[in-house]
Amino acid sequence: MSDPYLQFAQSGFGRFVTSRLGLPRPARLRRHRPGQPALAGPVLTGGAGRLDAVLKAHATGGDAPYGGLVFDATGIDNPEQLRALHAFFNPVIRQLGPCGRVVVLGTPPEELTSVPAVVAQRALEGFVRSVAKELRSGSTAQLVYVSEGAEPNVESTLRFLLSAKSAYVSGQVIRVGAAEVVEPLDWEHPLADRVALVTGASRGIGAAIAEVLARDGAHVVCLDIAAQGSELSEVANRVGGSALQMDITSPDAPARLVEYFQLRHEGVDIVVHNAGITRDKTLAKMTEDQWDAVLSVNLASQLRVNDGLLKAGALRRNGRIVGVSSIAGIAGNVGQTNYATSKAGVIGMVRSLAPELASRGSTINAVAPGFIETRMTAAVPLFIRQAGRLMNSMSQGGLPVDVAETIAWYANPASSGVNGNVVRVCGQSLLGA
Ligand code: NAD
Repeated sequence: MSDPYLQFAQSGFGRFVTSRLGLPRPARLRRHRPGQPALAGPVLTGGAGRLDAVLKAHATGGDAPYGGLVFDATGIDNPEQLRALHAFFNPVIRQLGPCGRVVVLGTPPEELTSVPAVVAQRALEGFVRSVAKELRSGSTAQLVYVSEGAEPNVESTLRFLLSAKSAYVSGQVIRVGAAEVVEPLDWEHPLADRVALVTGASRGIGAAIAEVLARDGAHVVCLDIAAQGSELSEVANRVGGSALQMDITSPDAPARLVEYFQLRHEGVDIVVHNAGITRDKTLAKMTEDQWDAVLSVNLASQLRVNDGLLKAGALRRNGRIVGVSSIAGIAGNVGQTNYATSKAGVIGMVRSLAPELASRGSTINAVAPGFIETRMTAAVPLFIRQAGRLMNSMSQGGLPVDVAETIAWYANPASSGVNGNVVRVCGQSLLGA
């Protein structure tokens, strides 16, 4: 599953050749290691608005190269004032170190009424997405729209974005709303005393999600089909969790899950619908069975499980549901009408359930992975696989841990204001951008 181009381009000779020939030069992405500083350099802040206190808390004195540049654009209420972005970033953008972070904070345009303010805040998207494309050396840029009154809710999001945990997330627009503020007792183990269910946990992205949630303190119930039994037990043992063999599409799966969690854990805090399958064929060649299998695992079963857990009150307060969509669900893909339909449906699930979850003090969000190095993508023909790796701002595929870290940010109790989001973990893929 290793990327031969990445290995070549990161070698001494490869760096020389790729720079001479103007070929993509993928950087070695800095990923989270316990005990290491979140960023490799200090954070410089700028701008003025409602998030002054937040900015002060995150500014760290020190000279370039910077680890992060954070700009509060919430004070910008007409297009002329957008010049402040240029004034702040122009002199310092080249001083952002490798794997640096740019974060712009704004106000959700849909919550504003004055036309110039809506225009100016919406304009931030174009700025951030372009900065993300210009940045090199594994750096990222994101826009965070913070609702009025949600200023205390932004902490977990800034901690995630201003760290190596968001290594493969770039060019994203995130919305943070006002919600009950819940600070974890320990930011190193924010999920202590929480119980999580991860479906499809025996390998690939699911196994990484189980590992990261367990690292953050959760007891993880790892679910997969019986045929994956031995790999599933291995993962569950490794993370100190429990293994649960179950086909998520079986009619009694929701009732069995409700019973399992109520009897053993008095409910569940975090549900990650990661199990997913592909049955690729162009539409004209696709059988009904191939269509049904994908829609059933990737979408219908998730709706039924949500319904079962919510009706039984088994999802505890400040609970989390996380869907795993895909950029195929955003951009569409040849040979994947079934898969893309299911993954777009996951986005619909997030949007439609978000208000209900908020009313219960909980959230629902989704990740949309791009090209992630797993067994699923190892099965893709070589040429398409290599194109998938290169067609993004990072010029490389992501790792399962990148998806897992994003889910851990959603799962954090302090992310109570992060609801109804679909964040792409795709290195700013050109597909569906
Ligand atoms: P994978 O095939 O390695 O793992 C999927 C797991 O789901 C397997 O362990 C499988 O046994 C399990 N599963 C399948 N059907 C099940 C069922 N009926 N009940 C219970 N478990 C079942 O896949 P992966 O690459 O790790 O992908 C994980 C998720 O991420 C999937 O939803 C996939 O669609 C999504 N995704 C992956 C990529 C990528 O690049 N790998 C990109 C976008 C989205």
